[in-house]
Amino acid sequence: MPFRCGAGLQACQTSVLAWLVLAAAAAAAGQPAPPTRISPHVYVIPPGGGASANVGVIVGDRATLIIDGGRSSAAEGRALARTIASLARGTDVFLVSTEFQRAESAQPEGFPGSVKVVRTRAQQQDVDEFAPGTLRAADVYFTSDYTLDLGGVEVQLLALGPAHTRGSIGVFVAGERVLFAGGVVTDRAFLSYASPYARPPAWLASLERLERLRPLRVIPRRGGSGTASMLEAAGAYIETVQARVAELSPSFESVDALVAQLTNELVEAYPDWSDRAEIAGAVTAAYAELRERD
Ligand SMILES: [Zn+2]
Repeated sequence: MPFRCGAGLQACQTSVLAWLVLAAAAAAAGQPAPPTRISPHVYVIPPGGGASANVGVIVGDRATLIIDGGRSSAAEGRALARTIASLARGTDVFLVSTEFQRAESAQPEGFPGSVKVVRTRAQQQDVDEFAPGTLRAADVYFTSDYTLDLGGVEVQLLALGPAHTRGSIGVFVAGERVLFAGGVVTDRAFLSYASPYARPPAWLASLERLERLRPLRVIPRRGGSGTASMLEAAGAYIETVQARVAELSPSFESVDALVAQLTNELVEAYPDWSDRAEIAGAVTAAYAELRERD
């Protein structure tokens, strides 16, 4: 269901004015990195200053979508909002977060109140469970996917959880084949099983769904952007952990021993990947999956 600015032109003008004024008045909380235009309608603001993760900005003629990877404070949100306001052409501003985690409890606070927040029901469950009452309700909820027509550019929002988090969301700009995949992929880092609800089979299914979109550019939550090979690498890693856990678990007495063994193996197999402490979460999730199947 594409969004139309149904409240009338005047309401739209008021909201964009409020947006610009609030953004202009934003406190200087460190200068966000300059936005990089990666395709006709898509910008990426890398971490630093206003953001703790990559921020995507999709600029249409009528509306702008912000893809938020999380910030550490509302002040940083205000600084980021100022940068984004300088890119916006349309009247309405939408905000979607690729995930909700405890550490990112500032979102979407810090952005002007006129921003329309889009969330899945699953992401709302994450908010309600891990940080109840900290975020305002969303303006739009969806379950599986949701299409936003920003004017001259259409954007697909996709529910990807339970993967990196239960409420992980991906954003695909089909016309430009750009995919914001959030924490479902990484740039040469071990995947983070950030949620107790992370499940390898659901994660793999989401990666396959994203591969079928045939993206040319894939932007992870953190680190540099890549190609569809980023999706393949994440899937191959998850499957490797699953396979080794299945092979080794009968001969290991504890999950901790299994984690120690597989950490050694995987660090050797992926010498240029960072965040080795995350391997424990992958092994634990694969082990739990095995137990659930028994
Ligand atoms: Zn995360």
